[in-house]
Amino acid sequence: MELKVLGSSSSGNCYILDNGKEALIIEAGIPFSKVKQALNYNLRKVVGCLISHAHNDHAKYIRNMVDSGITTLALPEVWTAKQVAGSRAIAIQPGKGYKLGRFKVLPFPAFHDVPCVGYHIMHPECGRLLFLTDSCDCLQTFPNLSHLLIECNYSNYKLLEAVNKGYTLKSQIERLPNSHMELDTCKRVISEHDLSLVQNIVLLHLSAQNSDRENFISEIERLTGKVVYAANPGLTLDITKY
Ligand SMILES: [Zn+2]
Ligand SMILES: [Zn+2]
Repeated sequence: MELKVLGSSSSGNCYILDNGKEALIIEAGIPFSKVKQALNYNLRKVVGCLISHAHNDHAKYIRNMVDSGITTLALPEVWTAKQVAGSRAIAIQPGKGYKLGRFKVLPFPAFHDVPCVGYHIMHPECGRLLFLTDSCDCLQTFPNLSHLLIECNYSNYKLLEAVNKGYTLKSQIERLPNSHMELDTCKRVISEHDLSLVQNIVLLHLSAQNSDRENFISEIERLTGKVVYAANPGLTLDITKY
């Protein structure tokens, strides 16, 4: 099973879990033509698409998913905001489990400035995977994870530096702590989990101005002793469970 990163930032998010026979798309913030290309134009293997929330960097192309016959899971607020409906448009309830092919998916509450969920994803080939983005915190822990995909959007240090240099609006000092995950929170959430089975940690949605990619990676590596990646577009990882 492979994880492909098509985009992981405020300019567009999309990830694909793909074993060649089954593919699960996470987020629809990248033009659908690029998603099709990444799937080698084989849409038949797509078992579904998961959406975290209504912001355009995650859901702009949600209609393309549904129109292409892809069962798409999103909060009711997302369907209302995007004015998309139909038998493929599934309004999810956080805490309820869903099956897409051999993927078992559990949406859980995230903490953003609009309604948002993270997803706990299980598949016999990759084990248990946690996906959480655009969330300033995580109040749940999940046992026996094999892969952790978690937002690490900014650090307080880099945010203040960027504001002082004029790269970032001062208003972000108020907004970000209630909408996106700070480095220390990311560290706390990761360390609350049992990491003994974890193979990969992938940091998502790094801010262009308020983050320091190399530093974030090395801090989380030092904390966990695991291999850590930043989700750059084009990153492909083998996520087959050992
Ligand atoms: Zn976002
Ligand atoms: Zn957002």
